[in-house]
Amino acid sequence: MKNETIIRQCAQTRDSFYLYDEAVIARQITRLKRTFPGAELLYSIKCNPNPHVLNCLFRKGFGADAASEREVEMACQAGLTPGGIQYSAPGKGDRDLLAAWGKATFIADSVGEMHRIQTIAQKKGQTVSVGLRVNPNFTFAGEGGIPSKFGIDAGEALALAKENPFPNLRIAGIHVHVKSQELRENVLSAYHKNVFRLAEKFAGLLGGLDFVNLGSGLGIPYGVNDREPDLTALGTTFAEHLAAFRQTCPKTRVILETGRFPVGQSGLYITRVIDRKTSRGKTFLILHNTLNGFLRPSLVNLVMKYAGTEHSAGTEPLFTSPDAFRFLPLKEGEPCERVTLVGNLCTAADVMAEDILLPRLEPGDLIAVTNAGSYGTALSPMQFSMQDAPDELFLTCAGEVLTNRE
Ligand SMILES: *Cc1c(COP(=O)(O)O)cnc(C)c1O
Repeated sequence: MKNETIIRQCAQTRDSFYLYDEAVIARQITRLKRTFPGAELLYSIKCNPNPHVLNCLFRKGFGADAASEREVEMACQAGLTPGGIQYSAPGKGDRDLLAAWGKATFIADSVGEMHRIQTIAQKKGQTVSVGLRVNPNFTFAGEGGIPSKFGIDAGEALALAKENPFPNLRIAGIHVHVKSQELRENVLSAYHKNVFRLAEKFAGLLGGLDFVNLGSGLGIPYGVNDREPDLTALGTTFAEHLAAFRQTCPKTRVILETGRFPVGQSGLYITRVIDRKTSRGKTFLILHNTLNGFLRPSLVNLVMKYAGTEHSAGTEPLFTSPDAFRFLPLKEGEPCERVTLVGNLCTAADVMAEDILLPRLEPGDLIAVTNAGSYGTALSPMQFSMQDAPDELFLTCAGEVLTNRE
């Protein structure tokens, strides 16, 4: 396994930890930049707010897609300026808006929020440029919009652009994001084209547009049969759509945001076998901090138990697919056996994997879980039963291992 020596060294003083590999992040960033020249890139902090990960992306020119006031603060602390931070989330309250005021570009998620921003701006005697999150008249499946808790329906948003009733707000851009984890490049390409078309409509009504943020959507392979989108094909069609867009909007900033693509595959979650037991013929390996260290593999088991083979929209980033994670033992040569991987919590729900084949492992041995770079720490209930939270380690391109505190 890659980085096995380093993993073993890190495990000398730890029973479970995350290891993020900067070389993987750097490679993914290079690939993104090559695919989308002419677009600015924002990193969606919510997928992994580890400070070393943030610095790695920001150093390489990413701006920030912030989903909370604290994420705005983190991006600010890391040295980004308000133009490079877009604060987009539903349900931003007055306290959030005031705390983030002047530090980020607000992406208004509703008419109610526009009212709130207007009231504050008026009190301050300022005019603020905002973006609108638009719930478009299309989805990844094609034409026709759907009801959504996100954004302002396209028709209503266009009406606001035509006749802006907010004297202290300037509508400066639009933001669209409808789906994550799409692997079909032709679907992504059609989506890009649709967003550019929508942006042209807004630009027509507003006499220009400062920015269009096309959101994310770009998926990574999780399951064994997943295939990454063809980036060459995607880049080619993106360049065509962008060139067409440039005819009407030569100066508009074109922005893409992404979380999982740059960091998802950079992370492993390593956990130690603490105990093994056989109960009525079934072998259990009891691991250190599973559900409470890296929730998503255990969620796969829960979802599959209730949904069977029926699982569809609206489950990202909690659930992706039944085979989204692999369990790699740091041991070879032993005969294989069928085991169930469970955690050390006092709940039967922390089942990481059921009845899988692994070489025989003993207490003290290690297992690495893949695809732990995004939505790992961020989604895991680490306060559950007062266990120690796993360390997050960052392996630099120079081979140095940094902890959370360095
Ligand atoms: C979470 C989120 C993203 C990042 O999604 P990934 O699938 O991790 O790339 C981007 N934009 C918005 C609005 C989001 O909520």
